[in-house]
Amino acid sequence: MKFEELNIRPEIVKALTELGITDATQIQEKSIPIIKEGIDLIGISKTGSGKTLAFGVPLLEKVIPGKGLQAVVLAPTRELAVQISAELAKFGKHLKFRIATVYGGVSLEPQVQDLTRSEIMVGTPGRVLDHLNRRTLDVSRVHTFVLDEADKMVDMGFIEDVEIVLKAAPRDRQILLFGATISTEIDKLRQRYMHEPQTVEAEQYVTEDLLKQYYYSVDYRQKFSLLVHLLKTEHRGRAIIFCSARSTVDMVAKNLHKQGIDSEAIHGKLSQSKRLSIIGDFNKGKIDLIVASSVAARGLHIDDVTHVFNYDLSQDPQEYVHKVGRTARAGKEGKAITLLSERDHQAFGEILKRYRLNVEELPLPEFARVPFDASRPHSSGGFNRRFGHHSRDSHHGGSQGRGRSYGGSRGDSYGDSRGSSSSRPRSREMTRRRD
Ligand code: ADP
Ligand code: MG
Repeated sequence: MKFEELNIRPEIVKALTELGITDATQIQEKSIPIIKEGIDLIGISKTGSGKTLAFGVPLLEKVIPGKGLQAVVLAPTRELAVQISAELAKFGKHLKFRIATVYGGVSLEPQVQDLTRSEIMVGTPGRVLDHLNRRTLDVSRVHTFVLDEADKMVDMGFIEDVEIVLKAAPRDRQILLFGATISTEIDKLRQRYMHEPQTVEAEQYVTEDLLKQYYYSVDYRQKFSLLVHLLKTEHRGRAIIFCSARSTVDMVAKNLHKQGIDSEAIHGKLSQSKRLSIIGDFNKGKIDLIVASSVAARGLHIDDVTHVFNYDLSQDPQEYVHKVGRTARAGKEGKAITLLSERDHQAFGEILKRYRLNVEELPLPEFARVPFDASRPHSSGGFNRRFGHHSRDSHHGGSQGRGRSYGGSRGDSYGDSRGSSSSRPRSREMTRRRD
């Protein structure tokens, strides 16, 4: 779609044309009309898809020269803040406005001067907060807040700073949140600060023809056995096993090792450099199996994955899409296999409600049962916590586990005798087609 068709001010269209930008990208086409209506927006698309322009253009249209600070853009790094300012200046070349770019590591004074005469501020959360605390920043007339690369700001630990800035903002401000991924933390921002936001996602994370999605309904006590069976029988190359909690990641990796299956565990407790070195080994082919928590794997570049296994599901439906999107990339086929026990069904239902996915149920194969030691990998001797109640993630307490019922008659049965427990969703309900 041409920018003219998006009802953009001629001064901006002119500047864009001069930059050789005439056709809107998908995220721009989808977000600009919503932003222009004043609606809060969550915009998700890949790096390089033109998110700066998507929020920048409507923001520039709205800003009135000489009326004080009206728009605030928060970005995770100094480099990005500088880049956004430069882009805005280019798009707004034929408009009158000033931008203050504020970030840490340099003196405050020049920024203070800039802030007094700018209509737009672009900054990193820490320094912005600094100015707010020193009262050199007044957000009382700011009508638009942009959180760019919100996911990165969360990863970098800026969420509290961001929240303080948002709390200082007027009630009726518009919030635009952009990023490449969405997490539970971002969901919190949405719930606390945004007003009935619309979510637009530009690129499909899931390419249906190349990505085959399957699920098994399996008793939680046999989940690990099924996983081992699948790892041994699936014709796979490199694979990732996702677990919703860090403790599960460790337990699964440790138990796989006992079954002679080597893997590396990645979770939030590892340093970024350790994570990167594991991913490096993976991409180089030194290891072919990673057990990861969803948060830890985010933003890491992982190549050539043939299989994604979801050992369990987190509450955030969007994570499923990101996880399965780790495979079937760059024109290659991939398989995503989700293991659902009772406690995952609700989360899975939410995923299917939100996304139109084609996920096929597979009948349980015959598989050998293997032991699962649910004690924490790093707990030192003494009290044997095996089969204990210590962790909400230890779903494998055998018959001595917690007293919850998982589908009565289905009980311990496996193989082909998949009972017709009413608590298990029907295959047809679970399967939605994208049309
Ligand atoms: P993102 O924030 O999604 O990673 P950017 O906003 O940084 O992407 O844009 C990436 C590049 O694409 C920039 O150089 C930008 O000028 C350019 N660009 C943005 N929109 C368009 C468009 N509609 N047509 C051509 N180039 C574009
Ligand atoms: Mg960007």
